[in-house]
Amino acid sequence: MWDFDTECSEVLRRTPTIKSFRFSIRAKNVRFRAGQFFYMDILVAGEKARHHFSFSNSPAERGYLEFTKRITASAYSQALDALKPGDWAHLSGPEGEFTLSRKWKKLAFLSGGIGITPLRSMMRYSLDKGLDYDIVLLYGNSSYEEIAFREELEAMERATPRLRVVHVLIAPPPGWRGKVGRIDSALMAEVIPDYRERLFYISGPPRMVMSLEDQLLALGLPQEQVKRDSFIGYE
Ligand SMILES: Cc1cc2nc3c(=O)[nH]c(=O)nc-3n(C[C@H](O)[C@H](O)[C@H](O)COP(=O)(O)OP(=O)(O)OC[C@H]3O[C@@H](n4cnc5c(N)ncnc54)[C@H](O)[C@@H]3O)c2cc1C
Repeated sequence: MWDFDTECSEVLRRTPTIKSFRFSIRAKNVRFRAGQFFYMDILVAGEKARHHFSFSNSPAERGYLEFTKRITASAYSQALDALKPGDWAHLSGPEGEFTLSRKWKKLAFLSGGIGITPLRSMMRYSLDKGLDYDIVLLYGNSSYEEIAFREELEAMERATPRLRVVHVLIAPPPGWRGKVGRIDSALMAEVIPDYRERLFYISGPPRMVMSLEDQLLALGLPQEQVKRDSFIGYE
């Protein structure tokens, strides 16, 4: 475990509502596994406030720790939105078992919106380290503009035949050739026909995670073949 005071080093806008925040590493032996999460304190109206965040960077992207958050109207989000390079934060971690499997090589990632963060970390890590995972990502979003890491996901897909990304949009732009609507069992079976051979990872708001898990179980997948990461705090 590590635990240190630090400062924000960089803020990146990912979509109209999503930002990534990077922090300097101010301790020795700061390790984590792709897919894990950590705790972060910042000052909200002068008081320390703590939330959990998945790392959105990969352990192979060195020199900083990053998380990515949807900015909401909450006081915490608003304080985060105002965070700028040089501002204080306290980080501690890592925690979590939502990480790349040692046993399974064929994986399926299901996500909506901000739930992409631990999955992006795992995909980036697998690609950069040349690991032999075969990954299909089914990623649902409200609109094209709200697809976080869109260009990077496209670049990763071009870089290896072992990574496939299928976008699903609720309100697609004119001329959209991808999938439309919400992720459900019919779509899962259509775009991941070998779903029985894959270990599933579901990540996002709790209600979405529960619903997608129910749909997977309805397809006859055993519970042991489903890993979950619920972003408590979102409805
Ligand atoms: C393992 C894990 C990983 C996460 N990773 C991410 C991530 O990568 N990106 C991201 O945007 N969000 C992530 N979250 C959610 C994040 O911690 C915040 O809860 C969320 O961003 C909502 O914050 P807010 O500022 O919008 O709302 P807030 O008003 O701060 O929170 C909304 C409501 O949820 C409650 N709440 C917040 N956190 C918790 C909690 N941990 N347990 C119980 N109740 C809580 C608050 O008390 C409040 O009532 C993660 C959560 C968990 C548990």
